[in-house]
Amino acid sequence: MTESYELAPDEDWRECQDCGLFSRLLPRQPGLIAECPRCGSILWRMRRVGLTFPLACAIAGLMFYSFALIAPLLEIYAYGRFSMAHIETGPLRLVSAGWQSVGMLVFLVTLIVPGAKLGIITTTLLGMKAGLPKRFLRGVFRWYKRLSPWAMIDVYLLGFLVAYTRLTGMFSVHIDTALYALIGLMITMAATDAGLDQEVIWRRLDDDEQPFCELEHHALSCTVCNLVNHTVNAIFCRRCYAPLYRRKPASVSRTWAFVIAAAWLYVPANIYPFMTITNLAQSQPYTIMGGIVELMRVGLWPLALLVFFASIVVPLLKLLGLAYMLITTQRRHADLLYARAATYRLLDFIGRWSMIDIFMVSILVALVHFGEFANVSMNMGAVCFAAVVVLTIFAVNAFDPRLMWDNYGEFEA
Ligand SMILES: [Zn+2]
Ligand SMILES: [Zn+2]
Repeated sequence: MTESYELAPDEDWRECQDCGLFSRLLPRQPGLIAECPRCGSILWRMRRVGLTFPLACAIAGLMFYSFALIAPLLEIYAYGRFSMAHIETGPLRLVSAGWQSVGMLVFLVTLIVPGAKLGIITTTLLGMKAGLPKRFLRGVFRWYKRLSPWAMIDVYLLGFLVAYTRLTGMFSVHIDTALYALIGLMITMAATDAGLDQEVIWRRLDDDEQPFCELEHHALSCTVCNLVNHTVNAIFCRRCYAPLYRRKPASVSRTWAFVIAAAWLYVPANIYPFMTITNLAQSQPYTIMGGIVELMRVGLWPLALLVFFASIVVPLLKLLGLAYMLITTQRRHADLLYARAATYRLLDFIGRWSMIDIFMVSILVALVHFGEFANVSMNMGAVCFAAVVVLTIFAVNAFDPRLMWDNYGEFEA
């Protein structure tokens, strides 16, 4: 399977995280993408740029981030009154209105995690230059991959777009400087991710200069730093200290638990009102679908389609897709494996975009509080919906796609 690969002194083994095939990694050639020979998933995208570029992007990102924290985001004028919101106003107002779970979730994914992610990259890269202990830096950098999907600035900006469009229909709205800082933050974070070669960082942080070249049976690969640990009885990864498993423990039953809980909550999330908008003493509760119909009614078709896709299609797709994968895995079906692997990667990628509606409501709640004249409040449907989004992300993480391929053939080494 790997004979065509050119051998090099620094060659190393890698287990494909999607299908579980062990193959030899190509030696580093900037610009090259090493793919799994069986399922085609990307094993190593070898960046052309060095580590200075992602460091510069991360530092610029931290500057945008601090500016976004202190600058105002949006202002509205209505009925002779004025209201202004910062990025943190929405989650704080949700918490004080009694919706702690959703408020904390929004706070976490828009403020804590993006800041932590940038802090991790800057600490690791500056620490490498400053010669900080590798052991410490490995302990820091291992959180980068774990936290990445939970940094949702890009999704937040789409939620902002929907909120802004809804507000302009009712009030006089003024965009403030934090929005530009957030756009800068999104771009610098994307550039950091695009330029950051995790494999290079892990290799430089490794104490062990001589990688093993022979693959033993029972080798365990680390899901965090991808190192293949050759110690048969290892419990933790030699390099990043993450727990080692051949397959994620109790993957099928845990995924089923998340899928069933999410499917159960998907019903109230769509039946109960998502938010209530009061304008001139008239209160109108909206369900998710009601909000989409309202966007269509005022002619905002592209936004209506976007919200429909993110809030209705994506959660359904995830639930049905995961159920299909679980059933076929349990029945040991070995057909359509490539399509199933591609579906899993798609589900993993699209899951976080369902948060658009939650971010939208957090921005509306932050701004519109003019008593009986105009007010927006969040309702139970939004809590159920937020739970559906989080549970489906957990479900995708709990599922081990390598289980699908275990029926495909014996361990190939
Ligand atoms: Zn593969
Ligand atoms: Zn590791």
